[in-house]
Amino acid sequence: MKRIRLDFEPDEFGPEKVICVSDPSNGMQGFLVIDNTARGIGKGGIRMAPNLDLREIIRLARTMTWKNALADLPFGGAKGGILWDPASSDRERILRSYARSLRSLIPNSYVCGLDMGLSENDAAVIVDELCDRKAATGKPAFLGGINYDQLGLTGFGVVRAILVALEERKIPVVNASISIQGFGAVGRAVARFAAEQRMKVVAVSDICGAIADPEGLNVDALIEEWQKQGTIAGFAAAKPIPLGAEMTISCDVFSPCAKEDTVDLEVAQKIQARIVVEGANMAVTPQAQERLAQRDILYIPDVIANVGGVIGAYIEYVDGSAQTAFERIRKTVDNNVRKILEEAKHQGISIREAGMAMARERVIEAMKAKGIWKRRPIGE
Ligand code: NAD
Repeated sequence: MKRIRLDFEPDEFGPEKVICVSDPSNGMQGFLVIDNTARGIGKGGIRMAPNLDLREIIRLARTMTWKNALADLPFGGAKGGILWDPASSDRERILRSYARSLRSLIPNSYVCGLDMGLSENDAAVIVDELCDRKAATGKPAFLGGINYDQLGLTGFGVVRAILVALEERKIPVVNASISIQGFGAVGRAVARFAAEQRMKVVAVSDICGAIADPEGLNVDALIEEWQKQGTIAGFAAAKPIPLGAEMTISCDVFSPCAKEDTVDLEVAQKIQARIVVEGANMAVTPQAQERLAQRDILYIPDVIANVGGVIGAYIEYVDGSAQTAFERIRKTVDNNVRKILEEAKHQGISIREAGMAMARERVIEAMKAKGIWKRRPIGE
């Protein structure tokens, strides 16, 4: 059989659709990748950047297939990309053009979300352009949006994962110490919900610096400092420590909530925490994950711990309340972490492998139910 030569290889899961759109009249160029819709319509954010690689969008769409399945949502995986500088003044015109060009797919086959370069105002623009409130999530409150970052939904889920991990390691929650890297939407919420559980936040950092107090930092005062100064680095009621030292400080739990690849092999070798729970995506490199396992440090990966945002997006999509979102995150993360810990022990595999196996199983089950599951990769 003659096959089209592509720059990527579809496999037994997808992608189902790879769409390139452009409008020569205004210079808009973009992609939409719908990876797998066995569990529901495609869902994933749109990224806006001057340089985007289609293969990267394809990879991110696949990640969304697993993430939505792990979050147990009736959504498939998808990702959008617009090749444009998000800081430019005519971004709205380009975004409108992108949404218009995908009108036949949004929202029946794809629901837009926010990714790098897009904010809630952009979700409102998409909804306005397509005259459909279901076209996007991440909308402002007046359009029925749930502000995930303000509510701290992702951080809430990360703390739920931490609580199950503490139980697993038989560490009492009250006074358990935690160090948090990054004091953005995720890191702040982790600090807030950990303090609510009466854990001790012993160190935090942001891009400007790191601070520590073994007796526990006052999280409310820390958030106030951040609101006033835009950084916690100069917080007077704590001792400054070198940036990066928050990762290896003595504590029960370390939660990297800043960006990808901060925990490499060298850091993993020095970590003193007994539990590492990933708030940021891909903060712990694969080699570091291996080293943590060898050192018997319990590591809960991003795809299991930071699903709060995607669950929030689903709740917004079905017009649910913030309260429903918290409740669903609590149930999902608690169940997933428990099941995955058990599965990892039972099968002698890593926690990430157990998570991936659970996601694949859920997607395969949905594909079987639709009669579309073929074990062998396409083209073989
Ligand atoms: P953010 O931009 O609000 O905050 C990032 C924080 O990390 C800032 O405080 C920044 O100063 C700090 N930082 C950056 N580099 C650092 C470094 N080298 N050392 C210490 N601190 C550093 O971002 P966010 O929304 O909190 O997201 C953080 C991470 O979590 C990202 O990887 C994001 O993709 C991921 N994530 C976010 C959500 C969400 O709901 N916001 C959901 C899933 C995953």
